[in-house]
Amino acid sequence: MARYTGAVCKLCRREGMKLFLKGERCNTTKCSFETKSYAPGQHGQTNRRRPSNYGLQLREKQKIKRIYGVLENQFRLYFASAASEKGVTGTNLMKKLESRLDNVVYRLGFASSRNMGRQLVSHRHFLVNGKIVDIPSFQCKPGDVIQVRDNSKKLKAIHESMKRIRGEHDLPWLILDKAKMQGIFIQVPERDQMGIDVNEQLVVELYSK
Ligand code: SF4
Repeated sequence: MARYTGAVCKLCRREGMKLFLKGERCNTTKCSFETKSYAPGQHGQTNRRRPSNYGLQLREKQKIKRIYGVLENQFRLYFASAASEKGVTGTNLMKKLESRLDNVVYRLGFASSRNMGRQLVSHRHFLVNGKIVDIPSFQCKPGDVIQVRDNSKKLKAIHESMKRIRGEHDLPWLILDKAKMQGIFIQVPERDQMGIDVNEQLVVELYSK
């Protein structure tokens, strides 16, 4: 599937927030957003027009797509599926994105970014309930056990990522066993457990026009 391959730090500057797309670098002083928090481009520092409602809705959609690394068509499918289910559409949408296997691998700490999580999954480094799953968009279900494959347990990239996990794992919807390099997806997280600062309701308004 096609992926965005441009400079990712520009995306943070465009959205006016850190999207944490570059792994460990995002938490250091090398983060571009720390030094250049204005929008990229020739008029990035001067263009301060107040965005329209449509502009705000569009930006919010772009933020969410970029955080989870999802392209337009796939995002629309997530939205359609979220809208067809009971409950609040925006929350359903976020729950679906948060349940993606590449996100869960990142949340468990096996990858330092969702992008890296996607690569590791597609390179067949993970088992879900004992079977290889190489589809980054695979939807985890409560009770699923996500495990680094035996052959991949020495992979430097995974060990480097796991170093950033300190003390107790702080996500109540996941259980991590660092020694076994496996995690359990206990439940789909509630919206307030995701720690993602976006307003998904604006996306619902955008698609409801
Ligand atoms: Fe965004 Fe990370 Fe780049 Fe900082 S280092 S601008 S958080 S992708």
